[in-house]
Amino acid sequence: MTSKPIGVAVLGLGNVGSEVVRILTENAEDFEARVGAPLEIRGIAVRRVDGDRGVPAELLTDDPAELVGRDDVDIVVEVLGGIDIPRKLVLSALEKGKSVITANKALLAEYTGELADAAEKSRADLYFEAAVAGAIPVVRPLMQSLAGDRVNKVAGIVNGTTNFILSAMDETGADYAETLAEAGRLGYAEADPTADVEGYDAASKAAILASIAFHTRVTAGDVYREGISTITSDDLETAKSLDCTIKLLAICERIVTPKGKERISARVYPALVPLSHPLASVNGAFNAVVVEAEAAGRLMFYGQGAGGAPTASAVLGDLVMAARNKFYGGRGPLESTYAKLKVAPMGDILTRYYVSMQVADKPGVLATVAAEFSKRDVSISTVRQHGAGDGARLVVVTHLAADSALSETVASLEQLDVVVHVASVLRLEGTTA
Ligand code: NAP
Repeated sequence: MTSKPIGVAVLGLGNVGSEVVRILTENAEDFEARVGAPLEIRGIAVRRVDGDRGVPAELLTDDPAELVGRDDVDIVVEVLGGIDIPRKLVLSALEKGKSVITANKALLAEYTGELADAAEKSRADLYFEAAVAGAIPVVRPLMQSLAGDRVNKVAGIVNGTTNFILSAMDETGADYAETLAEAGRLGYAEADPTADVEGYDAASKAAILASIAFHTRVTAGDVYREGISTITSDDLETAKSLDCTIKLLAICERIVTPKGKERISARVYPALVPLSHPLASVNGAFNAVVVEAEAAGRLMFYGQGAGGAPTASAVLGDLVMAARNKFYGGRGPLESTYAKLKVAPMGDILTRYYVSMQVADKPGVLATVAAEFSKRDVSISTVRQHGAGDGARLVVVTHLAADSALSETVASLEQLDVVVHVASVLRLEGTTA
């Protein structure tokens, strides 16, 4: 006897939605066997219902709210994009007790609290594996597999566009603007690349990762953020000479302040990463996330962080979980915020700096520059001079120091007569010195 079907509404038929519908349709029998009941698509919401959309025309609707409200819809898959419209739709679904799967990091990074409260009230599932690092399973490992451990750090490359650009700059020696244009031509960068290249997308993902890793509600606004648009081919050259490369990192970390208070840090910026670090070899549009947990040690998750089919894989994994819960009763884990840790300001975080500056051809330059570091208790690890005369460039790498002391040092270097200009300042990650 066939069990009663579980009704699914798919909101969006773009890169991700069309792959969700395709895989769900082509493998309907497998999904039924895995869930215990058939999954039936009740409708697909799009903006444009006319023309051949590659799906049965009778499933299409331009009224997502009506679709979400239908009695025969048990689970809503939200792959629309944007914030305001999906927020209302997801809330309305959860309030009606329907489980929701979403790939929407921008929505979650602002409104997880509100959505989780609605899910809690109606005892519905809210799953979002696809919202961080596409196909890579990282949300469920953090929420479930590591639920018995204590996670201390989650650091990763979670934006494929910026990783593609930085890898290509490293490989070809081309400058940022040229490489961004090439990324656009190849479909790796959007017409307006701001969300990717300025780190907003990675910051949304960092907020989600920090929230689930540290049982604390973190929003995108809590995340310190810098993008990659100021990275030059010279920076990548110098990185190479230091046996490093440059990656846009999302870092979520549990820290203890000098006064012994536990805090968390969530930050996104381009950083020098030693070539020996596992994240250094993650190239092109790939993503990777390294998790450090007390008992488990270091774990690394690697794979395709975007794209229709890879993202659909994560969405469909969530869909099977939510459908099983509908079929057997019960529900999966919800947001856990019991720890309520405060987010430390960037200035309190211990980091290492790489400072590249053009200096004047005068005696005593090195001593004058070194004095600025020592005034603020910033210890220098290495100093290298490139070139000579008026074109000389000094590259200083520091040991760990408070980020505020480092940024004050850089500000004071800019005022020195012997410094023509500070060309570049980057943090160095993946080392402990
Ligand atoms: P997309 O290609 O732009 O598709 C969006 C779909 O939503 C389109 O089918 C569009 O309809 C429909 N839509 C948008 N607003 C609508 C509205 N108000 N009413 C009805 N339909 C509406 O987007 P995508 O790349 O698939 O991304 C979808 C979501 O997944 C986003 O939240 C994104 O951040 C997330 N995500 C994407 C990827 C990826 O690789 N693409 C990876 C991870 C997460 P029309 O087709 O008629 O325009």
